[in-house]
Amino acid sequence: MVENRKFGWIECICGSMFSGKSEELLRRIKRGVIAKQKVLLFKPTIDNRYDENRVSTHNGNTYESISIEKSADILNYVKDKKYDIIGIDEIQFFDNEIVKIINNLADNGVRVIVAGLDMDFKAEPFHPMPEIMAISEMVTKLHAVCNKCGNEASRSQRLIDGKPAKYNDPIVVIGASESYEARCRHCHEIER
Ligand code: ZN
Repeated sequence: MVENRKFGWIECICGSMFSGKSEELLRRIKRGVIAKQKVLLFKPTIDNRYDENRVSTHNGNTYESISIEKSADILNYVKDKKYDIIGIDEIQFFDNEIVKIINNLADNGVRVIVAGLDMDFKAEPFHPMPEIMAISEMVTKLHAVCNKCGNEASRSQRLIDGKPAKYNDPIVVIGASESYEARCRHCHEIER
C-alpha cells in the first residue's frame, strides 16, 4: 500500500438467493482476521435462519455476528472502539438510514463490506440496495445457477405450495408452504 493512502471504503456484494453472497462476505471477513484487523459483523434480527449470533452460509461456513433491530444500533457498537472492518449481511432488510451510516463509517477510515439481495422475488430493486450499490467503491454481483435451465441465475423465484408466487401475494401467506429457488431472467415466473 502507498504510505499516505487513506483507509476506508465500501464493498458491496449483491445477487440473488443462493448466489454465495454470505460465503463471499465471510471469506473477506476471515481474510481480515488473518491480517489481524479488528472486525465486527452485523446482521438484521429478521434473519434468524440458522443462529442468532452467527452469520452462517448454506455451505456451513460461519462467523460470529451481532443481531440488530435497526441500522442506528450499529452506532452503539462503533462509538468508542475502533474497527478496521465492519461487515453487514442481509443489508437489504435495513431501513434507509443504513446508507448514511455506512457512508460515515467509510469516511472515518472503516472498510465496510456489505452483502444483500439486489432484487426482491418480483425481480424489482430491493431498496436500499440501489442506493448502497451507488455509493460503494466496489460492487460484486454474484450469480446462482438457474434451477430450470442451468443459466447464470440473477433472480430469486418465490414458490407458494410449489407454484410461482403472484405479484400481489402478501409477503407472508398463512398456511402455505413457501420456498425459493434461483432462476435466470427467462425462467423467472411472476403472474401479474
Ligand atoms: Zn433459466
